[in-house]
Amino acid sequence: MKTERIIIENKEHPEEELLKKPAEILKNGGLVAFPTETVYGLGANALNEEAAKKIYEAKGRPSDNPLIAHIADFDDLIPLVSQVPESGKKLMEAFWPGPLTLIFPKSGLVPYGTTGGLDTVAVRMPADPIANALIRLAGVPVAAPSANTSGRPSPTTADHVWQDMNGKIDMILDGGAVGIGVESTIIDVSGEEPVILRPGAVTQEMASSILGQEIHLDPAIATGPMKAKVKPKAPGMKYKHYAPKAELTLVEGEMKDVVKTINRLVEERLSKGFRVGIICTEETRESYPHGIVRSLGIRTKEETLAHSLYSVLREFDDLEADYIYSESFSKDHLGQAIMNRLVKAAGYHIIRT
Ligand code: AMP
Ligand code: MG
Repeated sequence: MKTERIIIENKEHPEEELLKKPAEILKNGGLVAFPTETVYGLGANALNEEAAKKIYEAKGRPSDNPLIAHIADFDDLIPLVSQVPESGKKLMEAFWPGPLTLIFPKSGLVPYGTTGGLDTVAVRMPADPIANALIRLAGVPVAAPSANTSGRPSPTTADHVWQDMNGKIDMILDGGAVGIGVESTIIDVSGEEPVILRPGAVTQEMASSILGQEIHLDPAIATGPMKAKVKPKAPGMKYKHYAPKAELTLVEGEMKDVVKTINRLVEERLSKGFRVGIICTEETRESYPHGIVRSLGIRTKEETLAHSLYSVLREFDDLEADYIYSESFSKDHLGQAIMNRLVKAAGYHIIRT
């Protein structure tokens, strides 16, 4: 299949003319990758089981891992769900459009091919103007998981999507680098108590303050599925995700001990002829004399770290690093999402100094 790439120059007010063809492709059961404020999504008509199947094929994604349906307006939610719980209403009003996915009991309209066989459906209303205009024009809810090959870091630029999806999908809309850089927060509001299934840019504190009660993380994400001995509620959590090709190790502790430990480990690996990467921040980048050093951004500005996390992981893939050592970060605010992705990418391999 030949994959067409369309560049959208005006990201705030994309020209409708440019979006007509991709909207038509979506409506007719094809695949279009597009930017959202979190990461690039791989879109298909969420009400068309055959189209959803194509997403699983293009990504190499296990078909029991459900897809998120993206909508353009509040009214688009009603046909997809059998009920909107009070907590869901409050969260929607506070954070939609934006980087928050909510899990509702599904209606009969949503096929099991989209929900991985579940009786619930995940829905999000993206804030990105290109995503919003495209979904509105398509006139259907758009199932859109991250537009990467399953198991690779999520794409935050159209080039990342191109690397993984060229030849496998109909079209890529290139709207430049995304804003946030990590996937949406997922909150399940279908049960008795709302639960966070995936941390993201809508933080635990933000959601808790809207609901006037503390919302907890699914235990499987707080400690890792192995330790928690519980089945993760988001089926996607059981798969190894966001995995770089190199063996990634996180190093935790006092900053000076972390730097010392990383430098020691890097030298050991380099002396054996391996290619070694280091993930750090602007504050420490000068402290690492050897290895391939990449700074994510400014330690106290979590949004800078989130923004470059996946590009840096992908860059180490391209550089064919054998080992990567990463500093660890505060779990406050957006840091919770960053550490969640990093810990998973490291396969829960953490050294405490
Ligand atoms: P992605 O589409 O790559 O952002 O991943 C979507 C995530 O949402 C996966 O971890 C899914 O398991 C999760 N998800 C989607 N639908 C549901 C649902 N109905 N219940 C629980 N988790 C869901
Ligand atoms: Mg994904």
